[in-house]
Amino acid sequence: MAESVLQVGDKVIVESRNLQRLFDALSARDYRIVGPTIRDDVIVYDELSSIDELPIGWTDDQDGGNYRLKNREDEAFFGYAVGPYSWKNFLFPPAIRLWEAKRDSNGFKIAEEGEEPDNFAFIGVRSCDLHAIAIQDNVFMNGKHIDSIYKSRREKAFIIAINCGQAGGTCFCVSMGTGPQATFGFDLALTELLEENRYELVMEVGTEQGAEILGDVPHQEVLTGDIQATDRISAHTARQMGRMMDTTGIKELLYGNFEHPRWENVASRCLTCGNCTMVCPTCFCTTVEDITNLTGEHAERWRKWDSCFTMDFSYLHGGSVRSSVKARYRQWMIHKLATWIDQFGTSGCVGCGRCITWCPVAIDITEEVRAIHDSELIDVVYSPKNEKEKGENNANA
Ligand code: SF4
Ligand code: SF4
Repeated sequence: MAESVLQVGDKVIVESRNLQRLFDALSARDYRIVGPTIRDDVIVYDELSSIDELPIGWTDDQDGGNYRLKNREDEAFFGYAVGPYSWKNFLFPPAIRLWEAKRDSNGFKIAEEGEEPDNFAFIGVRSCDLHAIAIQDNVFMNGKHIDSIYKSRREKAFIIAINCGQAGGTCFCVSMGTGPQATFGFDLALTELLEENRYELVMEVGTEQGAEILGDVPHQEVLTGDIQATDRISAHTARQMGRMMDTTGIKELLYGNFEHPRWENVASRCLTCGNCTMVCPTCFCTTVEDITNLTGEHAERWRKWDSCFTMDFSYLHGGSVRSSVKARYRQWMIHKLATWIDQFGTSGCVGCGRCITWCPVAIDITEEVRAIHDSELIDVVYSPKNEKEKGENNANA
């Protein structure tokens, strides 16, 4: 294999048809390539073997509770926004067996899942989703309790980001400071240059491994005009955001409005279906299920995604802590936008817009924030800190 002379930070031009050479270089290194493809009339992420499986020439129309694919007038590989899948489907799978136990003549033997994790190469990771991955890294790998399943998959992942060439109807990454240009967390980042008589990719090297792999792909020197073109694309995408959210003082705003009438209003519309939590790239709640067979000789424990919108999720003996829809929606939104900051140091929302598109009744988190923001009602001052102090005062009373 030819030694790469590329360095971290370099940018080069790659002809669009040579994207297949990147696939080949990844396959030769035993990566399982996962990227966008069309299934059931939506763009999902799945295993790919060829660039022909990408949604070439397709785009999406997105709005609250609405998603439709439609043809583009060009042959763009990545000319659409995010769909219902996110990379957590692979790094933090919806269902995974934690262990199994078998009974033999000496009793039960427990075998933990110890398989070598797959080498995933993710292609088409948007800037908002790079931020979402960083948030889940923080949750699963940077605290006291390390999630070994997530960590083993994450550490092996090779990430090819895409700088968005157009925003979706429900995107608001600019408001959240998470896009549209990929600035960190990738091995390679590409921008599609789609001009008349020209279809090329500007590839930026993010890591030494990215440089080594890109060395196998035919490329040419990038010109100043090409870099200016990529900057224009990102600036254009930033101006196209379908939604915006004013995040100034958002934590204090939500803590200060724990009893705002808007929570009843949204509760009257919310179906508590949990779609928003399933599609959200940062939501991480799970439950654990044990399964046994009828003979009592085999048992398994599975971890599955759960949602704070279900009654059972907060069930303690005697009942559910959050028995009303109001309490469950409020818990989700205040966690995303306020308590997450106290807990993990960042917002739990990256502005990808998935929860708006995939809500069957078009509940819009940006609209819910706006409704509280625009009202003058700030009645019950609530914060976990105040609650703690209140609890201590009561205990001392
Ligand atoms: S906000 Fe929408 S997606 Fe989320 S639980 Fe309610 S109805 Fe379902
Ligand atoms: S809360 Fe909604 S917009 Fe924010 S990251 Fe989750 S799905 Fe995306």
